[in-house]
Amino acid sequence: MSCATCQRIYYDCIYDFHKQNEESIVFLRNHGVLPTDVICPRCRSECVYIKEEHLWQCRSYTDAESRKRQQCDYSVSDFKGSFLDNARIPPWKVVLFVNEFLNQTWSDMILMAKQEMCLRAQEWRSFCCGVTENWLHKQEQIGGESIEVEIGEALIVHRKPDRGPILNQVWLFGGLERTSKRHFVVPLIDKERDKATLVPLIQTFIKPGSVIYSDTGAAYSDLSSLGYHHYVINHSENSDQTHIHTQNIEHLWRKIKWSMRRLSSTGSKCFHQYLARYLFISSEKDKSVLHHKFFREAAQLYVPLSDQPCPSTT
Ligand SMILES: [Zn+2]
Ligand SMILES: [Zn+2]
Repeated sequence: MSCATCQRIYYDCIYDFHKQNEESIVFLRNHGVLPTDVICPRCRSECVYIKEEHLWQCRSYTDAESRKRQQCDYSVSDFKGSFLDNARIPPWKVVLFVNEFLNQTWSDMILMAKQEMCLRAQEWRSFCCGVTENWLHKQEQIGGESIEVEIGEALIVHRKPDRGPILNQVWLFGGLERTSKRHFVVPLIDKERDKATLVPLIQTFIKPGSVIYSDTGAAYSDLSSLGYHHYVINHSENSDQTHIHTQNIEHLWRKIKWSMRRLSSTGSKCFHQYLARYLFISSEKDKSVLHHKFFREAAQLYVPLSDQPCPSTT
């Protein structure tokens, strides 16, 4: 799920890309963020890349045989439609911004002090958060035949400091594999925690055949009829079924709550964005995979020219 060029740690990335536009462009192209070839929408010829101008240009002639032949003058920016469209910062800063964005200890303050991009920092943060918010709906399935999965819900509350008023809150629903700790987490924004919401999420993110452990909840009542082996926690003191618990996912909820508590009150407007970013970062144990995953996601959300359907020439 990664490539050799993404096996970098935070400082390697800065070392390799700082003020290196060409290297950054190659890296972005290798991840599909920028196009590798562009077909002219007018005459369907292959365009030529003009490196100095970051431009793709069609150089074919409309009628090669005729004396009045004319060169097709179609040209288009390398960044058109892509994650870098209207970036207004050079490619190397985009790569380093994402490097910072994916760093666990990232904060607005650190960012303001770096990269001479304070004016653009908030805009780019929202932009990057858009990529992680989009990813939330595309998380990988977990579980499988006989794989143990714990599921549950948690309320994340964002307050003003010192137990001040609540600024924001959201319910999360998620599942976690006991052995591998692979997991998915979905914020239930404007959704009820009922069967109509949770069962489709379970079917989307957990493979049939999984062994599911959950707390009691009406929403989970029919899981056994949907191809899962379902066990519900028995809270009575003399229960001997100690393997039926959801301690692992509760540990995950504590980690998320702790992390979201660090969010300053000025960040309340960005609560959902921070949450999506945090969930994206914590979805991978191998941090070097995150870069790869982020740019592949950005390439799918902001489709560069070469992958867009070619408009008909007729
Ligand atoms: Zn053309
Ligand atoms: Zn990669």
